[in-house]
Formats: sequence, C-alpha cells, structure tokens
Amino acid sequence: MMRKEKKLVEEITAMEDDFAQWYTDVARKADLVDYASVRGSMIIRPYGYAIWEHIQKELDRQIKDTGHENVYLPLFIPESLLQKEKDHIEGFAPEVAWVTHGGEEKLAERLCVRPTSEVLFCEHYANIIHSYRDLPKLYNQWGNVVRWEKTTRPFLRSLEFLWQEGHTCHATDEEAGEETRRMLEVYADVCEEYLAVPVLRGRKTDKEKFAGAKFTLTIESLMHDGKALQTGTSHHLGSGFAEAFGIQYTDKKGKLQHVHQTSWGITTRLIGALIMVHGDNRGLVLPPKIAPVQVMVIPIAQHKEGVLDKAYELKDQLNKTVRAGIDASDKSPGWKFSEHEMKGVPLRIEIGPKDIEKNQAVAVRRDTGEKIFLSLDELKTRIPLLLEEIQKGLLQKAKAHREEKTNIALSMDEFKAVLESNPGFIKAMWCGDRECEDQIKEETGATSRCMPFEQEVISKTCVCCGQEAEELVYWAKAY
Ligand SMILES: [Zn+2]
Repeated sequence: MMRKEKKLVEEITAMEDDFAQWYTDVARKADLVDYASVRGSMIIRPYGYAIWEHIQKELDRQIKDTGHENVYLPLFIPESLLQKEKDHIEGFAPEVAWVTHGGEEKLAERLCVRPTSEVLFCEHYANIIHSYRDLPKLYNQWGNVVRWEKTTRPFLRSLEFLWQEGHTCHATDEEAGEETRRMLEVYADVCEEYLAVPVLRGRKTDKEKFAGAKFTLTIESLMHDGKALQTGTSHHLGSGFAEAFGIQYTDKKGKLQHVHQTSWGITTRLIGALIMVHGDNRGLVLPPKIAPVQVMVIPIAQHKEGVLDKAYELKDQLNKTVRAGIDASDKSPGWKFSEHEMKGVPLRIEIGPKDIEKNQAVAVRRDTGEKIFLSLDELKTRIPLLLEEIQKGLLQKAKAHREEKTNIALSMDEFKAVLESNPGFIKAMWCGDRECEDQIKEETGATSRCMPFEQEVISKTCVCCGQEAEELVYWAKAY
C-alpha cells in the first residue's frame, strides 16, 4: 500500500521543473478533465463540472440580480449572416468551423458553428426591438462555442468550451458604457470573492479589443508561472452592429435611432485560472466557496467498532452548514489523504478511535497543511470559520504573489531584463502607437494586457520609442 501512496504524488511533475506538464497533470489527476477523440476537445469530468456549476450558480445569480434574463439561441450561423459586420468576421474567420453537409446533401449555404453569438443576437434584436419602450434589452446565454484553435490546452484553449455571453441593447451610448463597466465589476467580484483570484481591471488597446467593438474592458490575472490570463471581458459595441443589422427603435420624439450594444463573457477558462493561481506540487487547491466538497471526513482505523458510525454522524452534522463528504472506501488513510489533497478539498477531518475517546477530531488545511485539533462539540461552529479563513488566505496569498511579480520598466533593456529575471506583469508607459505595441511583442514576447483604470505616471516617455507617453500599460506574456 505504501508504494502506491507514494506513486500517486510522484505522478505529478513538479511545477518548477515543467509548469505546462504540471498543469496538465493536475487537470487530469484531480479528475477535472479527460481528452476526447477530436484533438483539442475535452471531456469535463463530474468533479470539474461540479466546480463549473458552482461558478455558474454564483455568476448566474449576479447576472439576474443586475436585471438580465437568460435565453437560448441556435448553434449554427448562416455564412451570409456572419459576414454582415466586416470587422467581426475578419476577427473570427480563421477559427471558424463550418458545416457543409446535412446528411448526404450539400447545403446551399455553409453554416458556421457559433464562435460567439453577436450576429444571432443582432438578427433577433432587429426583429423584436421597435420602440424606446423595448429598451434596454438585457439578455444572457449559457452555452458552448467552437473555435478551431491550432494549439490547445484543457480549459485554457480548447476547440469547444462552455461560457456565458451577455448581449444587451440600450437607448444611449452612455447607458451601454455603464453596462459594460457594471458587468466587468460582476466578473471581478466573482473572481476575487469566490475564486479568490485577484484581478486587474482595465481597458484593452485597440489591437487587443474584440473584433467589431468600440472598446473592450478586461480583467487580467497572474498565474503562478508569471504568465497572465485574461479572465473575463466586457465589450462596448457602440452602434456598429446595430447599423449593420438594422436594429432601430423609435425614440420618445418619434425619431428613428440605432441602439447601442454591449457583450460580455466568461468561460470554463476560469477553471484553468483556479489550477494555476492556487495549485501546488500536491495538486489542486480549491477556494472553499466553489469547492464541490469543502470538508472531507476520513475515518482512521475504520474497521474498529464505532468509528464509521461516528464519522458518518460527523459528516451529517457538518452537512447542515457546509458541503461535507466522507471517504469510507477501503483504501488506506494515507492514500485518501493524497487523493483529496490532489483534488484540492479545502479541509479534511480525520477521526479515529483515539480521537473519539478524547471527543476530538483533527482538521487539516489543504492550503497550509496546518493540523488543528478540534473538540467534537465545537466542530459545527469552527469549521465554517476555518473555511472563511482559507478563502481569505488564498486571495491574500495570490495578491502577494502578484505584487512580487509586478515590476516597472523605463526602457526596453529594463523590460527585457525584468521579464527574464522575474516574469510577471510589467508596468510601462506607452505612446499609444500600434507600431510600438507590435515591436514590444516582437522583441519580448509580452503583449499589452490592459490600460488599468487606476492610471499612474511612472515616466513621461514611451518605453519603446521615447516619444511622449499617453498611458500606463500592464504587459505580460499571456495564455
Ligand atoms: Zn511608442
């Protein structure tokens, strides 16, 4: 049995040795995901799906609390519809999957499998919006989309992924702008308060904005290896789509106006962020608020009289306030410890004959490994507090990590040196020219992540060309 226990931990590559392999190992060994027969597509296993459901549940609540309704639109988009907005089709064309046949019959018009649903919503909105009384329209869709990516990673980049996409129509440009910011805040709240993933809020450069958008707001997070991950985006679409699709309403004065639109989305990518922000060399570490099982009760010497009964009693008692599970399988306790550590269960409770004698149990924190002896009488009140502590601790730790890995660069030499010695976010001034943005990417591999809402002036000149600087930009190598 000992050999097998050892093997379970040995099977994960250390993150210091090969971060990409470590990531894949955790995703698979924690039972989150499995590969499917089509390259780049993934099977989200029950444990992974349960995490998604917890994220979904909280986000859906907030989406509805901010006045939105859920709808469902079709999977297919006729080619002619996709081509109505020029920038949009140009942005998505390289990664679109096409349906050319229905059964044996060749279709008169190719159908695209939705890479995103702007055009479908626009077509629908043109049909149902007529008057100022029909506004705002605040729709959200939970579904899947397909993007034919060349290089793929489970959760981070896959041919098909799950997401929600909000699509809204407003009477004025200002209202659409407010909506764009409101939904970014919802995303930031879910990431920080539930996933314990700190985010940077800001605006994308024109180069990085959504195809067809007026501007894109983004939240960006830093992963353990110093690479950034875009964790959510919210787009102000202006009236470009409305003009292309003829979405018009009659205002109060009887005048015909185009609507102003937004769209916003988060995806199963967030599960990738959870792995890479909190995970360690023993596997996944889950923040309690979205962990499918928050507390795992593990009976010790469970064959001894009374142990299993007591363990089940504990689990039932805990289940009244938290999500508790029990592992009463015939595997050894050591094996169970490793397994639930791998799966990132925030707390485990060990209870054996000696503990029962002393009216106590041993709680072990997944995040710190700390062992805490608890009287059985105080368990019910202490466990929820411990979970709260873990939740807060994870966010603080991730924030501290981000601070450590955020640097300033005043010249290109500094930029390159710091990206090499301490990869992470680099704060540097930018003149606003696309050429400099391209050159920085070419020379360093870092892309502009965002122009933060909280601007600072760290220098008066662009890090790349030395001309007058317009904005502070966060740069990083990114997933
Ligand atoms: Zn410049």
